[in-house]
Amino acid sequence: MAVNLRIPGPTPCPEEVLEASSKPMINHRGPEFREMILRITDRLKSLFATKNDLFILTASGTGAMEAAIVNVLSPGDRVLAVSIGEFGDRFSAIARAYGADVVDIKFEPGTPADPDTIRKALNADPSIKAVLVTHNETSTGITNDVAAISKVVKGEFGKLFIVDAVSSIGSIPCPVDEWEMDVVTSGSQKGWMAPPGLAFVSMSETAWKAQAEAKMPRFYFDLAAAKRYLQRGQTPWTPAVSVFYALDASLEIITQEGMESVFTRHAVVAKKTREGVKSLGLKLLADERYASNTVTAVRVPEGVEAPKLISMMDKEHNIVLASGQGKLDGKIFRVGHLGYCTEADIQDVIDSLKVALPKLGFRG
Ligand code: PLP
Repeated sequence: MAVNLRIPGPTPCPEEVLEASSKPMINHRGPEFREMILRITDRLKSLFATKNDLFILTASGTGAMEAAIVNVLSPGDRVLAVSIGEFGDRFSAIARAYGADVVDIKFEPGTPADPDTIRKALNADPSIKAVLVTHNETSTGITNDVAAISKVVKGEFGKLFIVDAVSSIGSIPCPVDEWEMDVVTSGSQKGWMAPPGLAFVSMSETAWKAQAEAKMPRFYFDLAAAKRYLQRGQTPWTPAVSVFYALDASLEIITQEGMESVFTRHAVVAKKTREGVKSLGLKLLADERYASNTVTAVRVPEGVEAPKLISMMDKEHNIVLASGQGKLDGKIFRVGHLGYCTEADIQDVIDSLKVALPKLGFRG
């Protein structure tokens, strides 16, 4: 029986995607690769709902985050880093590592970012050049209201808006042009139903203007090089060809299904997850108004040890759950339901929790 991999990435891949990834190598500077990268880039742009440039990097999502930072900022630039969890903290850390002058706003884990707090921070410090926001915080299962945040960051203040959409775009609505996001990142192993290894980054015209002046050191992730090479249907460096094959196959499936149907499917399995865990007497970390449709964080009940629960689910039920990260380690477990996930996969999780929890002392 296949393992029910319920972590928020890498996610399971459809059989045809895995098969595609085992095709023979080709010349990454030849016509076949050219056709493939142009097709994939076009499809991703349409799924990002953007006319902006988009690049496919051979890296994980963190590589795209690093590319986002180093291409538009200079050391000493004042940056507002809005964090609601581990991945927001990571964005801030990357900016700081490259010498940005970072102002952090951190919200309690399990809560979303408040646009008014962002407004106050931007009012208080006109020297802020860019704002970093996580769309979907995978460590807490919260989706930020990026449309509302954009009204402040772009609409009221016209700042450079850099968004980590690694675990959202492609699964839940995240229209890049409509929300005026200047730089947006994602990774192949999330809702895209492909293996890890490729990361995506889109760049608006405003981002390109910032890029022309940005002085942070960059080489592998220099998007000006990526742009030059993409014009010839290539990447500057050797790409992960096998993951390109897989992504080509998964985007074919996603395109056939249609984005609206993909969003609905995610909403349905997410609701089933939340209703299911609540029916067992468990509590969600998130206020349901902000609960993510790609990952659900569940509080570990009093008296139950999280590592034992996760291990029992794995060994006895063949279900892999994710643990809490950082401050939430031991306090929550997470159920990933992005990409290739069915209602039956979620029912399996709920049925198995129902058996496992009482064995660990839960009397829900
Ligand atoms: N940002 C978010 C919201 C994520 O969920 C992840 C991955 O889990 C990342 C960034 C980092 O991506 P990667 O692990 O692919 O480097």
